[in-house]
Parts: sequence; C-alpha cells; structure tokens
Amino acid sequence: MDSTDVVVIGGGVVGLACARKLAIAGLSTIVLEAESGFGQGESSRNSEVIHAGLYYKPGSLKAKLCRDGRELLYSYCQSRNISHSQLGKWIVANGPAQISQLKKIASTAKANRCNEVFWMSGSEAQEQEPELIAEKVLVSPRTGIVDSHHFMLSLLADLEINGGVFVPKTIVESGKAITDGILLKTGGIDDYEIKAKFVVNSTGIFAPSLAKKFGCQNVPKLPAKGFAKGNYFSLTGKAPFKRLIYPVPEPGGLGVHLTLSLDGQARFGPDVEWIPEVNYIVDSNRKIAFSKEIKKYWRNFDSDRLTPDYAGIRAKVTDQPETSDFVISSAEDNGVPGLINLFGIESPGLTSSLAIAEEVAKKLNINC
Ligand SMILES: Cc1cc2nc3c(=O)[nH]c(=O)nc-3n(C[C@H](O)[C@H](O)[C@H](O)COP(=O)(O)OP(=O)(O)OC[C@H]3O[C@@H](n4cnc5c(N)ncnc54)[C@H](O)[C@@H]3O)c2cc1C
Repeated sequence: MDSTDVVVIGGGVVGLACARKLAIAGLSTIVLEAESGFGQGESSRNSEVIHAGLYYKPGSLKAKLCRDGRELLYSYCQSRNISHSQLGKWIVANGPAQISQLKKIASTAKANRCNEVFWMSGSEAQEQEPELIAEKVLVSPRTGIVDSHHFMLSLLADLEINGGVFVPKTIVESGKAITDGILLKTGGIDDYEIKAKFVVNSTGIFAPSLAKKFGCQNVPKLPAKGFAKGNYFSLTGKAPFKRLIYPVPEPGGLGVHLTLSLDGQARFGPDVEWIPEVNYIVDSNRKIAFSKEIKKYWRNFDSDRLTPDYAGIRAKVTDQPETSDFVISSAEDNGVPGLINLFGIESPGLTSSLAIAEEVAKKLNINC
C-alpha cells in the first residue's frame, strides 16, 4: 500500500491551489482526480472573473477569502506572466429600487475593505459606453479576468516542481480513519488503497456526497431545489462594451451579466436554473429570458447574435443566499482526524483559490 503525507481529492483550481501550497510546505502531496486531466469540473465552466469582493456578507469567509484571494491572484499572475486583465466592472441600476439595491452593495463593498469602488452618473457612463442604459453605475476598478486554464497549469507546475504528483482517472470511492491517518480506496483505471496523514476533499459539487462516504458528521444537505446550474450564451461579432457589465444581483446568482474573454469575445450569463440532476446542456429556449435581461442595459441589443454556449453548476450547500458561505470543515466539525472538507466553494472560488489554500494549511497547522 502506498503512503503519503497529503492526498488532495479533486484537481480543480481549488484542489490544485491546496496541493501546491502543501507541497511547497514540504509535504509529500498527491492529487487524485477522477477525470483524464485537471480542471474539467466547475473550474472550466465559469466566467473567469477575478472578483473584487463587493457583495459578500461582511465577516463571512467569502468576503475575507475573495478580498485576500484577488490580491494573491493578481500578484501570482504578474509574477508568472499568466494572461489576465484588470478591465474593471460596472454594476448598473435603473429605477429607484435598483439604485437603492446598488447603494447597499456599495456599503457592503466598503465593509469588505473594497474602498476602491466609486459612483458614476448615467450620463458620465454613457460617454464611455454609448450602448449602455443606466441611471447610476457603481464602478469596481479592481475586478478583472484571468485565463483560468493557464492559472491551473501553473499551479500544477508548482506542485510538480515541489515533488507533488497529479494522478488522473482515479476516483476516490471511500475513506476511513485509521490509527495514523486516513485510508483511501480508489476506483478508476486501477483499484488501489493509499494511506495519507492528511486528506483534503476538494471535489466541488460532489464534496458532500464523498464526505458521507468517510462517515463525516455535519455534512451539509444539497439545497432542496437541487443543483443551481448557470447557463451562458455567447455573442457573435464585436463586443458592445469595453469592460464587464453587471446588473444588480438576482437570488442565487449575480444576474445575467456581460463578461469578456481575454481575446475580447463577449458572453452573457450565468443565469440560475435549478435542476434535479447534473447536466450541462444549454437549452436554446432560454434565449428569450436572456434577451429580456440584456435589453435592460444594452440599448441596441439584437437577440439574433446570441448562441447557446456552455453551463456550470454552482457548488451550493444552501438555497438561502443570505446564509451561503464557503465551509472549510476540519476534524473538529467532521469527526475524522486529518480530513478537511471543502463545501460550498461556488463563486468566488476561482478568485479565492490561493487564499482558500492558505486557510487549509492553517487548519492543518502546517507552517509555511
Ligand atoms: C456558472 C459559474 C460561474 C462562476 N464564475 C466564477 C467567476 O467568475 N469567478 C470566480 O472566482 N469563481 C467563479 N465560479 C466559481 C468557481 O468556478 C469554483 O468555485 C471553482 O472552480 C471550484 O473549484 P473546485 O476545485 O472546488 O471544483 P471543481 O473545479 O469542480 O473540481 C472538483 C474536481 O473533483 C473531481 N472529483 C469529483 N469527485 C471525485 C472523486 N470521488 N475522486 C476524484 N476526483 C473527484 C472532479 O472531476 C473535479 O475535477 C463560478 C462557478 C460557476 C458554476
């Protein structure tokens, strides 16, 4: 039987960031990933936005780790030449109800140490973005975009340079506490057993079901409404705006917003569609609802330019937006010594990944 200091289960952006951190700290580290490569789960099904940390409940893990994570991510991208761009984001409001919602976001942003946000009038905004419909705009200059694949590739390289190993096509099926660690049983190409002093369950939307197979306590239930899918539509032709444009948030998501890829291609989404089982098919009929939302902030929008693109599923552990937070559950909560479960790592998980890794190392008392 093989034995190692750490097994990280799941090779998404968060699993890779944790594995990298622990390998750099000098621990022998293995990542076990079910798919044939890294980042094929939610880490390649998102908006690739570096969030500034405006919206999250002050004092929550999301607020802290997003704010810290964005700074870690910007400096990591700069030091490694990872493609990224600090384009900035505008949140737009029309009408008194939306403006008062936007004021609340501005005060939450300040409470979350995002003091860089500022206001613009609709007319000032339209000078720079003539296609925009907006009475008021809250500007977040520290929001940006990143090539998440490039970022993950770099995390993997750091892991391997520090002696870590990435093992694809290996599904962890169960685990149990033994006297000096945790014994994991895997399936996939070859069934085998591996013993680890520490295990990080970083399996995204599957983390609660895997934790149950370890006999963990306090495993969050799946939201009663099922899985919160987010669909995207891409825009053919030239992008109408030069920065990211967001409406005020909707329950469960940030609203159908416009993001840009690093090559300037525009896409809209994600919306919120509750589904009973995991599937990533984008229903072209959703174009009607998308068009209705986009028309609220884009003057000459033409729905013929929208094409169904991809979808992702948010790793939600509650359907109550006000209580939704990241959960980093260690032995005191889950009852399995040496095990960390990462639950609820939905957006802003990509932005927060390097900060989540710091937090995991702290919880395991690893001095880095
Ligand atoms: C629609 C959408 C938009 C988003 N937009 C943004 C954004 O703009 N900015 C941002 O910061 N965040 C965003 N996020 C959040 C971000 O994508 C996630 O928080 C992040 O990708 C989570 O990474 P992860 O490593 O935890 O999960 P994943 O990337 O899902 O990785 C989990 C991995 O575990 C593997 N796995 C599962 N079960 C097993 C098993 N039993 N054994 C072995 N391996 C297993 C899976 O194959 C997968 O590779 C968005 C999320 C969604 C869904």
